Amino acid sequence: MKTFRCDCGSQLYFENTVCLSCNKLIAYDFTSDEMNRLTKLDDNYYLTDFNKKLKLCKNYTEYNVCNASIPAESESQLCISCQLNRTIPNLDVIDNIQKWARLEKSKRRLVRSLLQLGLPVISYAQSENGLAFDFLQGQQQNPNVDNEFVTTGHYKGLITINLAEADDIYLENTKSELGEQYRTPLGHLRHESGHYYFDLLIRDSKWIDIFREIFGSEEGDYQQALDHYYQSKPHTNWNQNYISEYAMVHPLEDWAECWAHYLHMIDTLESAKNLNILDFDENNDIDAQLYNWSNLAIAMNELNRSMGLNDAYPFILNTAVVKKLYFLDQVIDPNFAPTRLVEVD
Ligand SMILES: [Zn+2]
Ligand SMILES: [Zn+2]
Ligand SMILES: [Zn+2]
Repeated sequence: MKTFRCDCGSQLYFENTVCLSCNKLIAYDFTSDEMNRLTKLDDNYYLTDFNKKLKLCKNYTEYNVCNASIPAESESQLCISCQLNRTIPNLDVIDNIQKWARLEKSKRRLVRSLLQLGLPVISYAQSENGLAFDFLQGQQQNPNVDNEFVTTGHYKGLITINLAEADDIYLENTKSELGEQYRTPLGHLRHESGHYYFDLLIRDSKWIDIFREIFGSEEGDYQQALDHYYQSKPHTNWNQNYISEYAMVHPLEDWAECWAHYLHMIDTLESAKNLNILDFDENNDIDAQLYNWSNLAIAMNELNRSMGLNDAYPFILNTAVVKKLYFLDQVIDPNFAPTRLVEVD
């Protein structure tokens, strides 16, 4: 993530709604990738310090779960991230707005990364191949809802997120039940977006054969693979070929896990560069990025240990995973021809 600067000179962060120095209203603009200091013009419009007229996303003005602005001429009342919402949480339920805000914060970060990578971010309302989000609650969290359980997942462009994933107690309990060291709303959103972009970029494309060579065939029965995974636990040696134990389930889960890790890497490297912790060329190739990332991950883990916290990045990038990340990098970068992958071994 970039670090931004307010026009008063103070540093701003992606989540800010107010500048803590000059106390002015702040909004993030997806189009320019900038945070602007705003002055209210009338009920609908705001002006930046450079006299650019903007509106605020309706989820900012009405619920304070977003901090994005939208172009003054936009027909939508929502920013590009909020336009992806098909179902928002039931706000009559106490605390749901805080959980929703936490998910939106992660979703904005995801959407920014996707846009920065030049990937299409299109709402389900605009295209049949568009992306939609449902934030749902199961009966365990809210006895008054219809769904007994809500499973976080992706199906044909619809990403469903269990709202409980934004609850710290639920997160900690689930981590310990499943033996996971890392589980966050942002991690879920990155993972699920991987499934969506598999459908969009790989399934019917020139990349599918190389995908199958590296990850295995995605056509195997999914439910059977999942049942087999849970029945045959515990797994040993998974860390020789996969980034996480869960990635073993199925080639599509392996892909989604690698996708999430690629997004973890590029966002965190960008933060390190902007905070002057690491110095590297923005146009670095994947080799240099992976080199910087492994050094940074070691440093982050050591810093966390100094604070008595768990490792920030409890994963190891083995050779098989590195090969998968190379593939992913090439799929995302349109300048690479798929034939180049043959050289990656
Ligand atoms: Zn300021
Ligand atoms: Zn918004
Ligand atoms: Zn998945």
